[in-house]
Amino acid sequence: YHGFTNNYGRNNDKFINGLLPPGFDQKSCLSRYQLNLIRKPSPHKPSFPLLSKLRRYEALHRRCGPNSPSFRQAIVRLTSPTNSTAPSDDCKYIVILTRDGLGNRILSILSAFFYALISNRVILINRGNTLEDLFCEPFLESSWLLPSDFPLRDKFGSFRQSFPESFGNILRNGMRKETIEDSPPPYLYLHLSHDAGDYDKLFYCDRQQNLLKKVPWLIMETNNYLVPAIFLVSSFRQELNELFPAKDTVFHHLGRYLFHPKNDVWGLILRSYKPYVARANEMVGIQIRIFGSESGSIQDQMKQILACTQKKKLLPETELSSAEKADSSTSQKVKVVLVTSLNSQYSETLKEMYWEHPTVDGEMVAVYQPSHEGVQSSDSRIHNRKALAEMYLLSLSDVLVTSDWSTFGYVAQGLAGVKPWMLYKAEDKVFWALQHWLKYKTSKEGGDDWPCRQAVSMEPCLQVPPVCDCDEMKRMDGGKVLPYVIHCEDASWGLKLG
Ligand code: GDP
Repeated sequence: YHGFTNNYGRNNDKFINGLLPPGFDQKSCLSRYQLNLIRKPSPHKPSFPLLSKLRRYEALHRRCGPNSPSFRQAIVRLTSPTNSTAPSDDCKYIVILTRDGLGNRILSILSAFFYALISNRVILINRGNTLEDLFCEPFLESSWLLPSDFPLRDKFGSFRQSFPESFGNILRNGMRKETIEDSPPPYLYLHLSHDAGDYDKLFYCDRQQNLLKKVPWLIMETNNYLVPAIFLVSSFRQELNELFPAKDTVFHHLGRYLFHPKNDVWGLILRSYKPYVARANEMVGIQIRIFGSESGSIQDQMKQILACTQKKKLLPETELSSAEKADSSTSQKVKVVLVTSLNSQYSETLKEMYWEHPTVDGEMVAVYQPSHEGVQSSDSRIHNRKALAEMYLLSLSDVLVTSDWSTFGYVAQGLAGVKPWMLYKAEDKVFWALQHWLKYKTSKEGGDDWPCRQAVSMEPCLQVPPVCDCDEMKRMDGGKVLPYVIHCEDASWGLKLG
């Protein structure tokens, strides 16, 4: 192979269809303008309104971001709102507090950015869990990191649902809407993590969004992908339709726009890509998440992976004998299987299988697993770098097999622009069997979506959707409001764009 050339051919569009602006220093963040060399060009084009919105956002971030005079003014208004003589300008902020694994944190940052775009706020990320070590700055001549001397930072640890400045708590306690309207507080906390309650989720309502417009600083905590529920806010809908005529491309475009692995991570990506992936005719990524006992035994998971990849014809079957057939040496096709998992056993079994036996179609299969970290250790730098590198390597796949419920897999599929084949979690087997029993009995095809099925879109799932309507707080099904906001394959009550 020669440098970056691969079987996809070179892709010279380093600005990825106009998503990325020119002008960044290339050396300090090589991946930004080089990922296109190893990734297939995306078949999904960002809309013109989205491109112009991003350019306007970048200008807003420059004007209001850290170190700008407007930012200093906004800090003064935050710390002494009553006696501040500083004239108010139109800079408003959304500070995102991330939590849990890297996949969760990427989803939450992207959600906050999506909200920043639609509500004309500036996104700032709270440092921590080595985030600042992983990603380059996405906005030219500014920073998206919350300055470490931000006045509320010491309080973040006490921000929770019951916190007095929590928006959901204020609504639950029946604070009159006029109170926020007449004297908006300098900041509010939005609790939108997995344990968010019905009042917290009033965030996804028009009336409450109207109130929030007046609050200059919003501090949001989430570990989820909020985008599908933000689509339910009717006052945002028209603009969102213009920005995203293809609804299932939100993560794909914004993920490729925002996240650029730093040079250390880029090194990990290249040192896997060049020797192990570059020569592949086709690459199949398999992401196996182990959620303790919920995932079942390794042997059962292995059976499930083999059943899925062979039934859906994602990987070739092997001959029973180990003897090479006379004509197979003429086959040039190499399929690379990139396995990511905390455990190395899955890839070892696959590797052995394809070494011990030829494939029935003569195709050569190379199996590669970059790391097997054993356990999640989300505050370790090198651990997180490896996790990010592996998400990016998976995102180069032509075909993806992922584990249900895993945000790690969601990120890979969204960046790749691929609808993954999703493996059921073992604990869902009983549920699945019950649900499908009738279908199975009455239709020959009934069993076809076991042990994996293809996702309807490449979008991540919001696993904790709003379940109450905005006016009377009665139960409602968010999956029945808009044709393109549907239920997820894995979290059946969750919502995704599709
Ligand atoms: P989720 O828990 O599956 O939704 O995904 P997260 O990314 O939020 O959290 C899982 C974390 O465990 C990752 O961020 C990694 O730290 C670690 N991890 C899980 N699976 C893998 C893997 O296949 N490769 C690597 N390098 N780390 C993994």
